[in-house]
Amino acid sequence: MAGSRYTYVKKFELPDNLLPGTYMVVRIDGHGFHRFCDQHSFTRPNDERALKLMDRAAQSVMEEYADITLAFGQSDEYSFLLRKDTKMHNRRQSKILSLLLSLFTSSYIFHWPKHFSDVELKYPPSFDARIILYPSSQEVKDYFAWRQVDTHINNLYNTAFWALVQQAGESTTQAHALLKGTQSAQKHELLFSRFGVNYNKIDARFRKGSVLVRETQATSTPVRPPL
Ligand code: ATP
Ligand code: ATP
Ligand code: MG
Ligand code: MG
Ligand code: MG
Ligand code: MG
Repeated sequence: MAGSRYTYVKKFELPDNLLPGTYMVVRIDGHGFHRFCDQHSFTRPNDERALKLMDRAAQSVMEEYADITLAFGQSDEYSFLLRKDTKMHNRRQSKILSLLLSLFTSSYIFHWPKHFSDVELKYPPSFDARIILYPSSQEVKDYFAWRQVDTHINNLYNTAFWALVQQAGESTTQAHALLKGTQSAQKHELLFSRFGVNYNKIDARFRKGSVLVRETQATSTPVRPPL
């Protein structure tokens, strides 16, 4: 079909196909969730309803896109791993990023009432996203280890911080000052001696984050013997 005199504007759309044969990680993170948590009365340090809602949104994304093999979530973020040979949308970055991000966001809002039955959404939340390419499984393993170490460090800090505020009546400024420069072992000790909390007994979801894995099933189709 002959193009109109306007068709030339299409040429301004540049290709953005991602390098073939590389693992893609898409990380989605809540935009301004410090404020969002405050405005929606999240339980501190961990609101289990919110974590389960994040898991639910991630599940929608995994159900829709079969090339996602693994996902890891913590706090207001989720990371998705795509097969290195994925042909999804011809590996176009903006297509993949925008489809995963918008489905995650709409599913988060869609499932909100089931998880927060008594909390009305005050405004529509948004998330940001990026795609990172990794050449080998070693970087992929290290990527997920990095996110999980982050989960651990943040959760230990937040658990100690909120114990000081909620149970010892410290101001947030005092709690920050008390924890400044402390090592992990000192935070464990503080939680145990002052609050009787054995950190290692805290719900694993809070300490380690959530993992969604796609299980592959062997098909029952008989393999034809070679002729
Ligand atoms: P940005 O837009 O730059 O990502 P942000 O305000 O979202 O800014 P983050 O570094 O992403 O900042 O931190 C997310 C915040 O949301 C942290 O304060 C974290 O403790 C809080 N948060 C996220 N999920 C939960 C949850 N389930 N329960 C309690 N707090 C949560
Ligand atoms: P893709 O995922 O590739 O965008 P698509 O199915 O969304 O595929 P489009 O080319 O974007 O295809 O076309 C959108 C379709 O939705 C068209 O068939 C269009 O007529 C229909 N559509 C969109 N908005 C309306 C509307 N307000 N009323 C009736 N039909 C609509
Ligand atoms: Mg962010
Ligand atoms: Mg955030
Ligand atoms: Mg975050
Ligand atoms: Mg369309």
